[in-house]
Amino acid sequence: MKTIKKRSWAEPYKMKMVELLKMTTEKQRLKAIKDAGYNTFLLPSADVYIDLLTDSGTNSMSDRQWSAFMTGDEAYAGSKSYYILEETIQKYYGYKYVVPTHQGRAAENILSQILIKKGDIVPGNMYFTTTRLHQELAGGIFADVIIDEAHDPLSEHPFKGNVDIAKLDKLVKKHGAKKIPYVCVATNVNMAGGQPVSMENLKELRAYTKKHGIRIIHDMTRVAENAFFIQQREKGYAKKTIAQIVKEICSYTDGATMSAKKDALVNIGGFMAINDWDVFEEARNLVVVYEGLHTYGGLAGRDMEAVAVGIVESLNDDHQKARVGQVEYLGHKMMEYNIPIVKPIGGHGIFVDAKAFLPHLTQDQFPAQTLAAELYVDSGVRTMERGIVSAGRKPNGENYYPKLELVRFTIPRRVYTQAHMDVIAESAAAVYERRKSIKGLKMVYEPKYLRFFQARFEKLK
Ligand SMILES: *Cc1c(COP(=O)(O)O)cnc(C)c1O
Repeated sequence: MKTIKKRSWAEPYKMKMVELLKMTTEKQRLKAIKDAGYNTFLLPSADVYIDLLTDSGTNSMSDRQWSAFMTGDEAYAGSKSYYILEETIQKYYGYKYVVPTHQGRAAENILSQILIKKGDIVPGNMYFTTTRLHQELAGGIFADVIIDEAHDPLSEHPFKGNVDIAKLDKLVKKHGAKKIPYVCVATNVNMAGGQPVSMENLKELRAYTKKHGIRIIHDMTRVAENAFFIQQREKGYAKKTIAQIVKEICSYTDGATMSAKKDALVNIGGFMAINDWDVFEEARNLVVVYEGLHTYGGLAGRDMEAVAVGIVESLNDDHQKARVGQVEYLGHKMMEYNIPIVKPIGGHGIFVDAKAFLPHLTQDQFPAQTLAAELYVDSGVRTMERGIVSAGRKPNGENYYPKLELVRFTIPRRVYTQAHMDVIAESAAAVYERRKSIKGLKMVYEPKYLRFFQARFEKLK
């Protein structure tokens, strides 16, 4: 008998209900993508087989979350579900005051309005679409202070989300600390490909900002996934739990905005958290204008219950191992097919380097947008563009030309199987094989804000 050495991990859950999917033909998909203006955001999801558009709000909730739904208190004021959420955030993240919002961008809106004055500089470890837009709408000017390695898809730096303190120092010297209301630090930086920030970097940043009296606001949308990487890669953290690491990360920051639609395993929800009473008081006041009373902030009581349970589940070590493990499985499959992906493999998806995949296309021919459309036609797998279309225009109207031109294969949490991952990698490989014959796109409709959601394209002849 052969001895078996290999020990695979598997998910710490089993399935109780399944959602049936529609299978389509290539002919149907060719028509669907044309009708959608070659923008995967405009495809009806009924025409999609495996949906990797986003990991936002696409999670499977657990039986415990569904049960918590039934215990939601739908009182307009003082809902018990709010107090449960508040207590969970205080206990696991350590922030003092909590304002629920219907999703992350609503928290960004409120926080930006309170903290940013016209002409302020808002440094961040790479931009996020909605975050930067709210900073700009509040009169701020975004400044990228992520380390250079984050912009290099070939760099294997283990913490590509790190803040470059020298870049920040330059801003402080040039504009003065008074012009910088806060540094926005995202954990597991989405736009860099789901890349983590190290604890060491956070500690250094805390020391630096303390000296200059600058706040740190934490975009904690994927903090637990970041904690998993710290546990795997950073010296001294191998034996700490995800929950311990998350709490330590939060302790170096002054407040946070959260899209609970990611880490926290729900379909809708978010919050703003802050340690400063004055900011909280203003936020509690503003949330009434945009979202609803401060004890529900645009959420149903049941949503707040599900977020509270989801936060606890997201901090489970086995959950994160399976979550990131599945993403890594897909990444390794893609590498076997020589598909150029951003390395190291990130936490919430695989980011294919569209410039390397389609080197014959210029950035104005939208290589990532093109590739996402081609993948859909090949297999019904829906991915999304993270390149020049997503980057949008500067306040002065010029295009941003981001260094990275990526297609994001985002993996929803607890939704797809390993067999789905195989199908996805095989489809990417099939498109890669015929890459030289692929033509680019031209934009024929451009919305004013966050154009990637609704822009329309036509195929170049
Ligand atoms: C999704 C996301 C947001 C915005 O949250 P929404 O819930 O989509 O409004 C902010 N920051 C990051 C890093 C995100 O991934």
